[in-house]
Amino acid sequence: MKRTDFYREQAEALLAFIDASPSPWHAVETVKQQLHAHGFSPLDEKIEWDLMAKGRYYVVRGGSSIVAFIVGHEPLVERGFNIIGAHTDSPGLRVKPNASSIDAGLLRVGVEVYGSPILATYADRDLSLAGCVSYRDEDGTINNKTVLFEKPLLRLPNLAIHMNNKVNDEGLKLDKQTALPLILATVEDVLPESLQFKELIAAQSGLCGSAILSWELCSYDTQQGTLWGLNDEFLASSQLDNLASCHAAVAAFLNDEVMASSATKVCAFFDHEEIGSESTKGASGSFLPDVLMRIGESMLAGKESYFRALSQSFMMSVDMAHAYQPSFSWAYEPKHRVSVNKGPVIKVNANQRYATDNIAEAMCVDWCHQAGVPVQKYSHRTNLGCGSTIGPIVSAKLGIRSVDLGNPMWAMHSLRESAGVNDHGDMIKMMRQFFQH
Ligand SMILES: [Zn+2]
Repeated sequence: MKRTDFYREQAEALLAFIDASPSPWHAVETVKQQLHAHGFSPLDEKIEWDLMAKGRYYVVRGGSSIVAFIVGHEPLVERGFNIIGAHTDSPGLRVKPNASSIDAGLLRVGVEVYGSPILATYADRDLSLAGCVSYRDEDGTINNKTVLFEKPLLRLPNLAIHMNNKVNDEGLKLDKQTALPLILATVEDVLPESLQFKELIAAQSGLCGSAILSWELCSYDTQQGTLWGLNDEFLASSQLDNLASCHAAVAAFLNDEVMASSATKVCAFFDHEEIGSESTKGASGSFLPDVLMRIGESMLAGKESYFRALSQSFMMSVDMAHAYQPSFSWAYEPKHRVSVNKGPVIKVNANQRYATDNIAEAMCVDWCHQAGVPVQKYSHRTNLGCGSTIGPIVSAKLGIRSVDLGNPMWAMHSLRESAGVNDHGDMIKMMRQFFQH
C-alpha cells in the first residue's frame, strides 16, 4: 500500500489534534486556535451580530460546543448552508463533586460513568484528568477555565488472575459504584489539605482553592496517539470517536480553496452526543438552529427567505463506523462488512437511526466519486440494536437533508481505538468536495 505525504501528514495532524484535546473543552480550544490562525473572529451570543459577506466567524456555547462558519458570496437563499456536524465528547469516567475517599490508606477519586465506555479498557492505563473549572473572580463574576493534568495521575489496577481465574472466559466485570474509584495517592504521602480534591485542582489551575466553585473533569489516557502496522497504515489513539471526524472537518474547512468557495459553509461540533444530545449545547438543543437563524437575520430578506435557504441546505453528520475485525466475524452483517483503509462509510438504517435517505446517499456517493475517493456502505446486523448519532436529531429539527457517514474504526468506545491512515485523508478530500458543491 502506497501513501502520498498528504495521507501521512493528515494522520499525524489528527494524532496531534487528539493529544492536545483530552476533554471536550480542550477540543474546542484546539479548534479555536486553528480558526484564529485562519482569520476567524469570535461572536458572542449575548451581543448583536453584524456579519459580512465572506466573513469568517465562530461561536462557542458552554465551552465545549462550537459552530464555525464562512459567509458565502453567493446568495444564501439560493445556495443554502453546507454543514458538517460532529461531536466533541467521548465516553469515559467523570469525577464526582465530592471526589475523595480513603480506603486502607489509599486516596481514591470517585467517578461517574459518562456514556458507554468499554470499562475494562480503563484498567492498567496511565490515566490523568482534564476538563474545566468554574471559579469566582476577584470582582465577584463567575468564570470558566480549562484545567489539564499532564502527568499520569490515576490508575485502576486490575485484579490478579489468581483471584479472578475466569477473567479470560467471562471478561473483566467492574461494579460501577465500588470498583471504579481511581487510585490517586497513599495518604501518608500527601499533605492533609490535599486530601481535599479541590486543593489539587487549585494547585494545577493556579486558582485559589476557596475561589473554586465547581468542575467537570474527565479521566483521559496520557499515552499519545501513534501510527502502527507494517507500513504505518493504521493509527491508534483515544477519542477517535469522534475527534477524528472533527479534525477531518476542520482540515477540509480551513483549506484555501474551500474557504474561498461561493457557498455558506458551517462546521458544528457538539458536546453531549454520547449521552443523547439533550442539552443546551447538545445537537438536540437550540445551538445550531439559533446560529443559522442569526446568519439568516443578517444575510436574508426575512423568514420566508430563511426557510427557502434551509430547503437548499445539506448536512453531513460525521461519526465513526464499525470496521470489520476478523476475530469477531459473527458480529457483522455479512454483506456490509466495511474495511479499514477502504474509504468513508455511508450509514443506512431503514428505522432512521441514521438520517441518510436515498437522495442524500446518492449525493454523498457522487461527492466521493468526484473527489476520487472510495466509498463503502454500512448496515447493522438485523438482530442487533443499531446505535445512532446527531444526524437524525439535527435533520429533524431543521428540516435539512442529511447523510450519516464516518470512517471505519475498530474498538469503538475503547480507551484505545484504532483506524486507517488512508481513510482519514480520503474523508478530508471528500469533505472538501462537499463544501465546494
Ligand atoms: Zn461517536
